Amino acid sequence: MDEKSRICLSLTAPTLEEDLRLIDSRRSFVDMAELRADFLDPAELSHLPSFPKRAGVPSILTIRRRRDGGLWSGAEPERRGLLARAVSGGYANVDLEEDLEDPALAEAVKRAGGRVIRSFHDASGMPDRLAERLRSLARRPGEIPKLAVTPQTVGDLPLLVDACQRLAGREKILFAMGEFGLFSRILATRLGSYLTYCSVTGSEQGAPGYLDPRVLVELYRFRKQDRQTFLCGVIGNPIGHSRSPEFHNRGYEALGLNGVYLPFLVDDVPAFFRLARMLELRGFSVTIPHKRTVLSHLGERDETLARIGACNTVVRRSDGGWYGTNTDVQGFLTPLEKQAPELLRPETGATVIGAGGAARSVVYALCSFGIRPLILNRTVEKARALAEAFECEWAGLDEGGRSRMQEHAELIVQATGVGMEPDVAADPLPEYRFSGSEVVYDLVYKPLETVFLSRARAAGCRVVSGLTMLFSQGAAQFKLYTGLDFPRELLDVNDSIVK
Ligand code: NAP
Repeated sequence: MDEKSRICLSLTAPTLEEDLRLIDSRRSFVDMAELRADFLDPAELSHLPSFPKRAGVPSILTIRRRRDGGLWSGAEPERRGLLARAVSGGYANVDLEEDLEDPALAEAVKRAGGRVIRSFHDASGMPDRLAERLRSLARRPGEIPKLAVTPQTVGDLPLLVDACQRLAGREKILFAMGEFGLFSRILATRLGSYLTYCSVTGSEQGAPGYLDPRVLVELYRFRKQDRQTFLCGVIGNPIGHSRSPEFHNRGYEALGLNGVYLPFLVDDVPAFFRLARMLELRGFSVTIPHKRTVLSHLGERDETLARIGACNTVVRRSDGGWYGTNTDVQGFLTPLEKQAPELLRPETGATVIGAGGAARSVVYALCSFGIRPLILNRTVEKARALAEAFECEWAGLDEGGRSRMQEHAELIVQATGVGMEPDVAADPLPEYRFSGSEVVYDLVYKPLETVFLSRARAAGCRVVSGLTMLFSQGAAQFKLYTGLDFPRELLDVNDSIVK
């Protein structure tokens, strides 16, 4: 039987009443609560023994010193005194640091029916030989060893996974703090950690790396995970904004698949490939700035990659090698095939605004139907380079370019970041007057309708939102990772996701 990791809510309010309210707000999502008494107002400390009964969930007592990343700055005898008095209240666990040699206190915890968590925190890096350290923390019988480390790069993470694998089957708490460590909180069951810590969003400790228990359960399917759960993810830098985890995990949920899809902040692509192999990732999506860098790590490539020069999807082959492809091309075409199929013929006059990575996929997709779009870009050199690679026309994003559009205006694709949040008032071609006969496709999906697209709609044009492309390329990835179609019922008629 799989041992499932527990969800432990870390409580960092200044009063016990507020901490109890935090538990109540997430009760159905948590198994335990850790009272961080170092965050409490001094007047609250005399009430520590009453907490476990009032909490109604197994409770951990922690009074973390400053040097271990906590807020306690009082004298050490005072801290020990507080701990000793509080244990009688029935805490399930009391967190004592590795160097706290106090057999009487440890014995008092045991006598009260609790267990000591013997912890070591490195708030600034990764100590050497993690597995040996954990073994050493576990030297006192009956105690649960806990090691919390702070990776500074994704290159630190294979060390953590290696330690988990070497200590498989042994009771331990092992996780990484900060944004690089997020995966270790989501995959606590897979990594064999006794529990995972989380915090209520917006509370004191809602720092990078901490997840809200509701997100852990509802988005990352924490309670459904076991050691067999397949893993997929998305890499990027930054990565916090990605909507891909929401998209893929909803699909897994709807189809009852035993999988989880998670974000990885990646600053070092080769190191991430090592991690992906260790975690046996089935595949991962790739976003800015890694779409080019991953190319040299692929064992096999879709033929489109050579032309586009950017990979947004990597899938593990049965021999362990990596296959790369780009679903932006199909993602761009699918909405057009549905909404304006008559345009997919060589004679169509089209304009692509932009000459970045997304524009390149768009130009490639259009050329596959024989369409040679006019390419307009702010940096004219880039427009020219892209146009020459695909034998298209080009111009600047200016009056000259705008006048050339007359011959290329059945389909207009906006493929720059202009109009994207937060600069939602921006328009890449404010002087252009839509006639109403154009089909206008804006790749930006935040906001759902850009100023450019809403001007086109107002003029009577048919419009296509970037969200439809986002979902289509995501659905193509979903199929590559799972072999299954993304559940249509999760998309409404406009291809906007609904709950
Ligand atoms: P990129 O490679 O960085 O290219 C950015 C493009 O935007 C370049 O052509 C750049 O022109 C242009 N640009 C940026 N700021 C501009 C400004 N103020 N005025 C005029 N042009 C400006 O980015 P990308 O990957 O191609 O992404 C472009 C957009 O497409 C982003 O908004 C992205 O979110 C969106 N996208 C959507 C999907 C989807 O599924 N819907 C997929 C991929 C991308 P210069 O060359 O002159 O700098």
